[in-house]
Amino acid sequence: MESKSKFLKIVCPRCRQRHIVFGKSSLSIKCRKCNYLLTKPAGGKTKIRAMIEAILWR
Ligand SMILES: [Zn+2]
Repeated sequence: MESKSKFLKIVCPRCRQRHIVFGKSSLSIKCRKCNYLLTKPAGGKTKIRAMIEAILWR
């Protein structure tokens, strides 16, 4: 599980804009439409504050 790259398809809970984000990203990602904070780094993990619509494995 740790060796694979995981991408998440998430939906902004505020404006429903879809975003593809890297699962292990340690960055804060904001919605490009409404600026809602979608992911937030928390102690090496990423806390996702949006709805996960799909998990994409590469
Ligand atoms: Zn949004």
